Amino acid sequence: MQKEINIQVSPEVAATSQLLLQKVSTNISIPKKDINHVQILKRSVDARQKNIKINLRLRIFIGEAFQEQEITLPNYKDVSNAREVIIVGAGPAGLFAALRLIEGGLKPIVLERGKDVKARRRDLVSIIREAEVNPDSNYCFGEGGAGTYSDGKLYTRSKKKGDVRKILNLFVGFGATDQILVEAHPHIGTNKLPSIISAMREKIIEHGGEVHFNTKVIDFKIKNNAFEGVKTKNGTNFNAKNMILATGHSARDIFELLYFKGIEIEAKPFALGVRVEHTQRLIDKIQYKCEDRGAFLPAAPYAIVKQVEGRGVYSFCMCPGGVIAPCATNPGEVVTNGWSPSRRDRDTSNSGIVVELTLKDFAPYAKFGPLAGVALQKSIEQKAWHLAGETQKVPAQRLVDFVEGKQSKDIPETSYKAGTTSIEMGKLLPSFIHESLKAGFKSFGESMKGYLTNEAVIHAPESRTSSPVRIPRDKQTLEHPQVKGFYPCGEGAGYAGGIISAAIDGEKCAERILGI
Ligand SMILES: Cc1cc2nc3c(=O)[nH]c(=O)nc-3n(C[C@H](O)[C@H](O)[C@H](O)COP(=O)(O)OP(=O)(O)OC[C@H]3O[C@@H](n4cnc5c(N)ncnc54)[C@H](O)[C@@H]3O)c2cc1C
Repeated sequence: MQKEINIQVSPEVAATSQLLLQKVSTNISIPKKDINHVQILKRSVDARQKNIKINLRLRIFIGEAFQEQEITLPNYKDVSNAREVIIVGAGPAGLFAALRLIEGGLKPIVLERGKDVKARRRDLVSIIREAEVNPDSNYCFGEGGAGTYSDGKLYTRSKKKGDVRKILNLFVGFGATDQILVEAHPHIGTNKLPSIISAMREKIIEHGGEVHFNTKVIDFKIKNNAFEGVKTKNGTNFNAKNMILATGHSARDIFELLYFKGIEIEAKPFALGVRVEHTQRLIDKIQYKCEDRGAFLPAAPYAIVKQVEGRGVYSFCMCPGGVIAPCATNPGEVVTNGWSPSRRDRDTSNSGIVVELTLKDFAPYAKFGPLAGVALQKSIEQKAWHLAGETQKVPAQRLVDFVEGKQSKDIPETSYKAGTTSIEMGKLLPSFIHESLKAGFKSFGESMKGYLTNEAVIHAPESRTSSPVRIPRDKQTLEHPQVKGFYPCGEGAGYAGGIISAAIDGEKCAERILGI
């Protein structure tokens, strides 16, 4: 017999199988000896009260053997001789599109401007040590896309549970821990993601697909409003009737190419702000209401939203136990984002704190047409680079000083390894963003006691929160209205905001090409 129950237990009980068995036995009034297995189906932390509890959904096997269900990969076909589909970009959208095409019997040709996931790591080190940004290989570009060296948070606002489950299962099939199927807020971690990404690439190649690194697409061949192929920087051309364009939110050259070729794109609102770093101990103390979270609780996350004079100011991509990373994609600019290792065990925690922008905010850049949002991003990122010393040092300010508009006398050491320069952020940020953030932080300090401290450090800017451009597509066919066979896809096209939603969108585009 199997029985499913919801139960609340202490963190220690949740983490210790013998203690959990005892608790379950008491709860369902069945002796321990008759319980063959307790399977955790869902786990979440309830930190609303001082006494923190773990909510568990359990399946209990009583007098019945438990058989672990192995997560298996789909039955991928040999597509060596099948019709070819070009996929530009090997981020989650591109990779999941490629795998879905193979499942359906078509041959993906994946073209990626950056290097394979291992070689890419050296370029990340160069950004930190030599302040050198390779425009084709950095935190955003290269195999695995923008999310590879990230926290690997795998949650999404997508309401379609089936789609999300399918993507999570694939991640497990390619080597992620099956705990991501259980946690309410799963994440993988920077140290684990690269091997999962290379397993996906190996699978694509094993089944007859192609993956080309160092292959930047620089032009599209279009005839009679139908897609015919691409030209690449290294001189190789690829021809096919269908292309999935999954180049991410930072491929500005692709947005420019589309605009200058007269292929319709539109400006899209996004959010912009700063990244703030606290000690993880402080965030634990605020969220868990204790001095030390102990051995059984994970590093505490937070998510916060406030309205400031009609604008949303909110936390974005919070990385518990994580590090702030230099995420510029071109020399001459500074951009921040964050990552965490799988154990989230660094002493620091960081989060983007960003202000919602509207199309009206792009008005000073109207001459750039649909690229106005890109122009706004660029102007702030380039100014940050000049202000902080024309390296990859980041403009920084202590949090209370930020709120009071004072330049900080000194900046304590932070996790941002390329270095910091003390800057009064009023010099960097447009005043409506600056003022909204100041009010937002004050308000956060009221909700989260201790958050507004001068030991916390602001790093700026956090400017790549989502795409500043949308590439239109037909709701049914997902093709661009002007170009048959062209499928704008993923975050860069404006249809995803994170790893999971990008992967779902990649699958969706592949399915339209497969006629599903
Ligand atoms: C540091 C960091 C941390 C993040 N943390 C998280 C997180 O924890 N959870 C989460 O859900 N999301 C996170 N994100 C966001 C997430 O990475 C993106 O939402 C997601 O990767 C978007 O997927 P995509 O496939 O649409 O685009 P991308 O991942 O951006 O992939 C686009 C790919 O296209 C390639 N490309 C671009 N131009 C060309 C060209 N001309 N020719 C050939 N190839 C090209 C790029 O090199 C890149 O590999 C993070 C992002 C960063 C930068």
